[in-house]
Amino acid sequence: MTETPSYLFYQSRNPRPFLDRGEGIYLFDESGKRYIDGSSGAMVSNIGHSNPRVLAKIKAQMDKATFGYRLHFRTHPSEDLATKTVEMTPDGLDRVFFVSGGSEAVESAIKLARQYAVTQGQGSRYKVISRFPSYHGCTFGALDLTGYAPLREPFAPMMPGMPKVASPATYLDRDNLTEEARGLKYAELLRDKILEEGPDTVLAFIMEPVGGASTGALVAPDSYYGRVREICDEFGVLLIYDEVMTGAGRTGKFLAAEHWGITPDIVALSKGFGAGYAPLGAIVAGARLVEPVLDAGGFLHGFTYAGNPLACSAGLAVLEELQDQNLIENAARMGDVLMDELRALMDRYPFIGDVRGKGLLTAFEFVSDRSTMEPLDPALQAHSRLVELAYERGLILYSRRTRGGTSGDHFLVAPPLIITKDQITEMMVILRDALDAFALEIGV
Ligand code: PLP
Repeated sequence: MTETPSYLFYQSRNPRPFLDRGEGIYLFDESGKRYIDGSSGAMVSNIGHSNPRVLAKIKAQMDKATFGYRLHFRTHPSEDLATKTVEMTPDGLDRVFFVSGGSEAVESAIKLARQYAVTQGQGSRYKVISRFPSYHGCTFGALDLTGYAPLREPFAPMMPGMPKVASPATYLDRDNLTEEARGLKYAELLRDKILEEGPDTVLAFIMEPVGGASTGALVAPDSYYGRVREICDEFGVLLIYDEVMTGAGRTGKFLAAEHWGITPDIVALSKGFGAGYAPLGAIVAGARLVEPVLDAGGFLHGFTYAGNPLACSAGLAVLEELQDQNLIENAARMGDVLMDELRALMDRYPFIGDVRGKGLLTAFEFVSDRSTMEPLDPALQAHSRLVELAYERGLILYSRRTRGGTSGDHFLVAPPLIITKDQITEMMVILRDALDAFALEIGV
């Protein structure tokens, strides 16, 4: 096969085949090989590929107008998408601001929080506490919140460092606490940090309700969520949920926050919100925050492409599909099926140390010893090796090294929310085959 020259670069040179087409949970390369999209790309393609309703809606909008600058016109797709978004999110989140991606959403959340604080005479509050490990995006502001050393260190010194607290990696804890006490223990780390920094300097706390790439679908004990909300309220610190990955139904609720009955002050959305049909994201906040900013002259922020009618028509069709096809309920149901299947792998592969997640955001992690949760030897490069073995067999997985980037390979299994039970079975056959090949390679 002759190499096609490429002038394009991303993080590295791209050895992958050319994509031809997508259909439901499957992608096909130009040779006709079929892949199960076991990670929905990067947890993006929530309603699957080539959804006819979404394509029809985008095409219809294309024939009318592809762009109208938001300062020159209101558009029905953007207004309707904002209405639908508010309808699908919990009460108290009733103002929407559109962006084109996750990092933009995180940046926008911070700037809204900051401008709101200024309107309240609290301009001294500028620190945003985030967690370690975490991932919030790749622009400088979002990267400064990200708790993942390999992504931050190459750019150091960065902007003034934002304080960090530990993510509740409770599966690694070897204390004798109950789950409830453990959750509270991690929440108190936030309280301690706010006091240490000085409450009148702390603007916000940002967290992924269920971890994404950085932690591998890490879920905190239930007690954590409510206590964090209380602590933020105690000190007037705004609570920002980064639901870029978890939002739009991925965990079996429209927002993951709903699992714990939490109303954050600001929510960041992207990924599944546009579901791969358009670059789209949003922040959703309460009128309580937004109205004072508008009264004070307006939100000093905005991206040129944000809220364009083409992207918003795609987003609207995506949310309609989620509702009409009951895909959020399906994510909850199929998430249970998938979780049982993944847990069963632990009987067969001693190097799987943990299985976790919520809805269709699930992960398994490799260890060399389950009793100590010692990671596999980093020299094995397990995170990339298993992905290759699965890819060869027609299954796409998403992997990262976790625990702050030192070692500890985890794999996200997050198929489109349209997946059926039979398709989960089909996916597991390939996954077991890839794991068998990996076990053989490492001599287990
Ligand atoms: N926040 C979270 C939780 C994410 O998972 C991501 C992307 O993986 C981002 C923010 C950044 O989104 P984007 O890559 O669209 O800028």
